[in-house]
Amino acid sequence: MILPNKNYSNLKDSYLFYNIAQKVKAYSDKNPGKKLYRMGIGDVSLPLCDAVTEALHEAVCDQAKKESFHGYMPECGAPFLRDAIAKHYNKRGVNIASDEVFVSSGASDELGDILDLFDKSSPALVIEPAYPAYVDANVMAGREIVHLASGRENGFLPEPDDSIKADIIYICSPNNPTGAVFGRDKLKKWVDFANKNGAVILFDAAYEAFIEDTELPHSIFELDGARTCAIEICSLSKTAGFTGTRLGYTVIPKELKRDGMSFNEMWVRNRTTKTNGVSYIIQKGGAAVFTDEGQRQIHRNIGIYKNNAKVLMSALDKTGLWYCGGKNAPYIWLKCPDNMDSWTFFDYLLNEIQVVGTPGEGFGACGEGYFRFSTFASPEDTAEAARRLCSLLEK
Ligand code: PLP
Repeated sequence: MILPNKNYSNLKDSYLFYNIAQKVKAYSDKNPGKKLYRMGIGDVSLPLCDAVTEALHEAVCDQAKKESFHGYMPECGAPFLRDAIAKHYNKRGVNIASDEVFVSSGASDELGDILDLFDKSSPALVIEPAYPAYVDANVMAGREIVHLASGRENGFLPEPDDSIKADIIYICSPNNPTGAVFGRDKLKKWVDFANKNGAVILFDAAYEAFIEDTELPHSIFELDGARTCAIEICSLSKTAGFTGTRLGYTVIPKELKRDGMSFNEMWVRNRTTKTNGVSYIIQKGGAAVFTDEGQRQIHRNIGIYKNNAKVLMSALDKTGLWYCGGKNAPYIWLKCPDNMDSWTFFDYLLNEIQVVGTPGEGFGACGEGYFRFSTFASPEDTAEAARRLCSLLEK
């Protein structure tokens, strides 16, 4: 008899989004006419920009002609896209070569697949509250997980200390769900810690395009020492509306080696074995994101989400509730009022003002008592949700 991977039985029920959906459905069944204001969604609401859709259309036409047809693409990514991404880093003063860039179908896929590079006995550190996939991917792999709680006292940006024993370190900055962003000095402490201990940082930069404060790093490779201890995982999902189109990229520097083995070379071997590349059409659409016009257009869309953030933040300012995020990230993380737990606050907002958010407890135990709003809804819904929040909670 085939034996299943028993690690799956150690997964906690992923009840966060299921529970939300159930509660929302029960409310809507009881109140059929009531419109809901969905401030919980992590999906984007704006379509792909013109530069991208034009490139996608052209690529479809290429596939219709013998002279320009593409079959299998190179497993690690089309040279035109790897070059465009490397140049994008170079323009920001970060020295990345094209063959250090690996094109992927999105950050989620990479966050799970990349664990193939590490020995099963290497414990993984997850800074919580955290994007749930970090924990689950490691539970499936049977890896020990070290949970590091963060909180208001450190701005949800904890520092390393010598009591931490972990070989893989997840850092998500800008953070989902807290919206907190590591500054250079604090991030450098993690880089130094990883180099000192031989650990590898998996730096999730899915939200880097939302950073507006110029002193904050978009990439861990802006810091000295990162090339010997970090892998950066990026996504065009939120940057350019590719949640349903699927495209991301991973940067693995050639200097990143442990025990004489190069993680860049190992990943080439992994990709050439386990993938047949990302579709030519999608990669063409992705390359358009890195043109000057593409950058202008995606930042116009990001500006709309940032405006949503401002609207929500100004409502929260009036309520007097504590919050962080929103400025350099598409998430706002707030303290529930009157010591409410996060599910009670969820029910309260749903029942009283039909606003749906995400309870912080779903991102780890230290998220209890907090709540996440996303800024990806339409400006109209966001404005109405903000108005309702103010009238319910204004002091
Ligand atoms: N990393 C973080 C922190 C995310 O919040 C998300 C999606 O919400 C992802 C990765 C996954 O992105 P992708 O759509 O590229 O799989």
